[in-house]
Amino acid sequence: MTWTLARRTGRMNPSAIRELLKLTEQPGVLSLAGGLPSPDSFPVDAVREATARVLRDTPREALQYAASEGYGPLRDWVAARLAADGIGVEPGQVLITTGSQQGLDLVGKLLIDAGSAVAVETPTYLGALQAFAPCEPEFTALAADDEGPRPEALAGAAGARFAYLLPNFQNPTGRLMSDARRDALVAAAQAVGLPLVEDNPYGELWFDAPPPAPLAARWPEGTIYLGSFSKVLAPGLRLGYVVAPPALSPKLLQAKQAADLHSPGLNQRIVHEVVRNGLLDRHVPTVRARYAAQRDAMAAALRAHLPTTTEWQAPRGGMFFWLRLPPGLDATALLPRAVAAGVAYVPGAPFYAGEPDGRTLRLSFVTLTPAQLETAVAALGRVVHEALAEQPPLRRAA
Ligand code: PMP
Repeated sequence: MTWTLARRTGRMNPSAIRELLKLTEQPGVLSLAGGLPSPDSFPVDAVREATARVLRDTPREALQYAASEGYGPLRDWVAARLAADGIGVEPGQVLITTGSQQGLDLVGKLLIDAGSAVAVETPTYLGALQAFAPCEPEFTALAADDEGPRPEALAGAAGARFAYLLPNFQNPTGRLMSDARRDALVAAAQAVGLPLVEDNPYGELWFDAPPPAPLAARWPEGTIYLGSFSKVLAPGLRLGYVVAPPALSPKLLQAKQAADLHSPGLNQRIVHEVVRNGLLDRHVPTVRARYAAQRDAMAAALRAHLPTTTEWQAPRGGMFFWLRLPPGLDATALLPRAVAAGVAYVPGAPFYAGEPDGRTLRLSFVTLTPAQLETAVAALGRVVHEALAEQPPLRRAA
């Protein structure tokens, strides 16, 4: 039997990326590759007790089919929490999704036709490229600096269906948009009528100071906002949310119904039970402290073991360091040697919608302990030094 695959499958996860990620998962290798929150950060007792309460008090409701919009009290809670961030939304605008990854998938279905332009950061979250790609967009890569995309690049993307932006501790670079950059980006988008999709799974994971107000607080009618419980509670719950301007809600809801009817009702009730008495206000500071210590350990290890011609900055939140190897090195080509030396990372190339910078790579600092981070970065440093030593000497200009 010969199956004819849909054209869109040609745009799904290129096998080169799959092969790379498989390589990073070998046993005995210290992995800085996965974006896995530290399992020690999960509030296991709170989830256990909440699960017991939900199954004791509302077992049949929790196990029944439920509303596609999501569990009402959880939508109310999300709306109230966002209000504290300056995003004034009605609970009716909050759609609970199966992780914010599903939010990205639904946004793609809602807004992208084959051939539509979609503007993305340089580089951007690989999972968003994967979510949007089956809708067959033409990606426009927005030129960026340490603060994110440049406002003039956004102005140049006029006519795109939306610009996908990650203001807080971006995956993969860890960068944070300043208050002024946010204002400038919103002004540029408003000037050309370019809608924004703001993805914010890491905003709560700040180490020094809370990030500036979200884009959605600055331009509510022009911004779709995505949030997630994965990084503040646990990713296995698979719960996130999309907040859209009211005009979009009916079609977004129809896309959600078609995708999975609703996100797991049991999980939604458990999460509501966990958060309703303020657990996040007690729990998230412990995650911040843990991750800040791991960030410091990785920064110290990078300073100690990587050549000074490696470019990187310590992130002020989130889960990732972004490295640019010394000139002449290629992170994809180096990965098999790094794995053989006992350390894995994700090469930067798949995070680019346009021309990739082959010298870049992403390191997660939240999964391993500080001692393991030191060992892993030391191994990476050895591989980089060796590769540099093998390079032909640079010919100096006369
Ligand atoms: N957006 C970004 C930027 C992410 O890094 C991730 C997770 N890696 C997601 C969305 C999806 O997260 P989830 O589906 O667990 O909410």
